[in-house]
Amino acid sequence: MSTQQLAIHGGSRTIDKTFPWPIYDQREISIVEEVVRSGKWGNPDCGEEVAKFEQEFAAYCGSKYAITCVNGSVSLRLALIACGVKPGDEVIVPPYTFITTASSVIECNCVPVFVDIDPETYNISPAAIEAAITPRTKAIIPVHFGGLACDMDAIMDIAKRHNLRVIEDSAHAHGAEYKGKKLGSIGDVGSFSFQSSKNLTSGEGGIVVTDDDELYAMMRSLRNVGRIEGGQWYEHYNPGCNYRITQMQAVLLSAQLKRLEEQTRRRNENGLYLNSLLEKIDGIAPLQRTANITMHCYHIYIFKYDASRFGNLPKDEFAAMLAAEGVPSFKGYPQPLYKQPLFQNKNFMCYAIPDTVDYTSVHCPVAEQACNTDAVWILQHAMLGEKEDMEAFAKAILKIQEALA
Ligand SMILES: *Cc1c(COP(=O)(O)O)cnc(C)c1O
Repeated sequence: MSTQQLAIHGGSRTIDKTFPWPIYDQREISIVEEVVRSGKWGNPDCGEEVAKFEQEFAAYCGSKYAITCVNGSVSLRLALIACGVKPGDEVIVPPYTFITTASSVIECNCVPVFVDIDPETYNISPAAIEAAITPRTKAIIPVHFGGLACDMDAIMDIAKRHNLRVIEDSAHAHGAEYKGKKLGSIGDVGSFSFQSSKNLTSGEGGIVVTDDDELYAMMRSLRNVGRIEGGQWYEHYNPGCNYRITQMQAVLLSAQLKRLEEQTRRRNENGLYLNSLLEKIDGIAPLQRTANITMHCYHIYIFKYDASRFGNLPKDEFAAMLAAEGVPSFKGYPQPLYKQPLFQNKNFMCYAIPDTVDYTSVHCPVAEQACNTDAVWILQHAMLGEKEDMEAFAKAILKIQEALA
């Protein structure tokens, strides 16, 4: 039997289907319409629908408090400032993440210290964190990458021993769990994004969750131009800004939150099934899931690609071929964050980053290998597909392998 022609070369696609995102129906339309008709689009800090959603999300996470804000980047900034970082303090971050995990640190006049990720999970390595701690270290921002929980026992233990704050960047991790606990609820603060690609979305938006009364009061004040509980409207105590969301976003998020549990379960089941299929393919290795991962929300399903089993085809070309076959897939980040011009050129503008800071010699080999040769992403909306779709994803990979043999 001759091999099938690849879709990228004009052959037929393995899977010819669109995976919709966001998912909504008349419920979302009605509830937003209702707010529009009410005329209560926003309110001082921030309106009853916003407060209601914050309570729902806090309860969902098992946290005491939640504070919405304009996006999942500002949420990190609110968390850092509330945690008491000072100019020149160091904050440990992974290099395999979205830019604002690190640039939010710059925006606090602090120094992001990049440490490598674990090759089996692509999450920040606890041993690398420990090795990077200095007297100036104030906080760690673990990122639950793709929705896979970091090694939180180890990270919380390090934080406790060194008196560090832990801000969980949970922008990928709505509904995911570690040992039965919702991600975001384990560290001092959990930060989430509601940007359009994320597993819970209102187009844009963000939220922080915490159990700490003082962090709550401060983040809430910073979100609301420095006002405080019980203060006057034109009385400002803290250097915050207007980071409030609208009532339309809040009702949309409430409606979407009702869908989240079922969607997360589906992605989790599909992810486990896809693991079982891809494990069998020579040159493809899913990331590791330990027993501590009681729920994975697969914001990104990641597998490692070994070009030597695919005729030495570079990863970027493989990812393009897979996408052409109809698998919503992507090569992922082209480089670790410290290689970005922002850090290489130290283009820190008004921010007071010490002159001694230098990113040109930073080297995180696992993150570099993930970017350059290994990591391929399948996106979350595809993980909401049917069992047969997972089979088609595996088939598409095998088709490419056969064509290259
Ligand atoms: C999306 C994302 C953010 C930023 O969220 P926005 O709402 O887009 O500002 C932060 N961290 C990670 C890991 C993200 O993926």
